[in-house]
Amino acid sequence: MMWRSHLVMGLGAGYLVSGFDPVLLAAAGLGSLLPDLDHPNSWIGSRIPILPTIARGVLGHRGALHSLAATLALGGIIGLLWGREIGLAMAAGYLAHLAGDMLTLSGVPLLWPLPVMVRIPLVKTGGLLERFVVFPALTLGLVYWAVLPEVSGYVGRVMAWLT
Ligand SMILES: [Zn+2]
Repeated sequence: MMWRSHLVMGLGAGYLVSGFDPVLLAAAGLGSLLPDLDHPNSWIGSRIPILPTIARGVLGHRGALHSLAATLALGGIIGLLWGREIGLAMAAGYLAHLAGDMLTLSGVPLLWPLPVMVRIPLVKTGGLLERFVVFPALTLGLVYWAVLPEVSGYVGRVMAWLT
């Protein structure tokens, strides 16, 4: 999937797990971009080119980084370093990335190191369906279920404070 689809899914997962907390949403958003660290054209990989070279050389693309083991390792390490809530939010975003990639033709080695690719091939990465249906629908869903209620809550509190 495209990085922006992953980001929207990661933010949605972060919202489901942690609510509308900017720090936790940022952690979930970052987590949703990390699995493609092994790809030179990924959002992070294109900005820090040495990372895909190292990750791809050690793990291969859509290898260990696209697995439940990596999700648990990331969530555990971040949780130990910066707290359970941040680790959980980042793991939620990371897991959302894996769920998105599972819907592509390539699938993901979810149970790595077992050599089984898990896939429900509904979407071609960057294809018309993703660009014009999946990404807009995910974005509208995130805005409708997460952003609008929060914004209306703030507006309501401000209006109550003003009156
Ligand atoms: Zn990926």
